[in-house]
Amino acid sequence: MIELREHYQEILDSLGEAAKIAGREPSDITLMAVSKTRTYQEMLDLYSCGQLLFGENRVQEVQEKVPLARPEGMRLHLIGHLQSNKAKKAVELFDGIDSVDSLKLAKKIEGYLSRPFPILLELKTAQEESKSGFSSEDELFSALDVIMQSTYLQVRGLMTIGPLDGDEKMVRTAFSRLRKAYDAVQKRFAPPSFDTLSMGMSSDYRLAIEEGSNLVRIGTKLFGKRG
Ligand SMILES: *Cc1c(COP(=O)(O)O)cnc(C)c1O
Repeated sequence: MIELREHYQEILDSLGEAAKIAGREPSDITLMAVSKTRTYQEMLDLYSCGQLLFGENRVQEVQEKVPLARPEGMRLHLIGHLQSNKAKKAVELFDGIDSVDSLKLAKKIEGYLSRPFPILLELKTAQEESKSGFSSEDELFSALDVIMQSTYLQVRGLMTIGPLDGDEKMVRTAFSRLRKAYDAVQKRFAPPSFDTLSMGMSSDYRLAIEEGSNLVRIGTKLFGKRG
């Protein structure tokens, strides 16, 4: 617990530093704690340090691990690929879905909603085959033409996973591409409360912040290596 508190403070400091280097305000950057494979108790420990936003990548894990009655202010978002047949469950378990990667999935989610619900659209910015996400800006924009008509879906921003084995240049290229897509969506669709550019993980959050990220998703650096 003491160790977790120390890691947490180190990361907050490091995010602040990265923000300053990029000429931005530390308060511009939000930390999402990625708690996949970690216990609910570890999440509560971090919550008691002041962390509110958590990310998980699997519906089933959350269903088994996290009770529906959660401490006040705790928010849990899905950041992993969601199969359409789990959309109903996801809407019950999560406060937002940051990994919407197809129009079909967006429609499915909308169908289960009866409350305003924040989503991010995921763009594939690296060429790794297995990775989910809209495969091009054009595909993302056509989906937005439809999603913008939704009653409940609130498009809050964009998300990407940078190339995991890329060099600095490749990583920057991916992040800068998402930043451009973000600006283009803002200009073309101006979704209300569009404010989130989610990119950067333990290994690449400094570069992401330099390229404009305002939400970094950190697991390993907070909790240690996953088993
Ligand atoms: C696991 C995961 C993270 C966190 O990765 P770390 O390298 O442990 O910081 C961030 N985003 C997504 C989508 C993930 O699946």
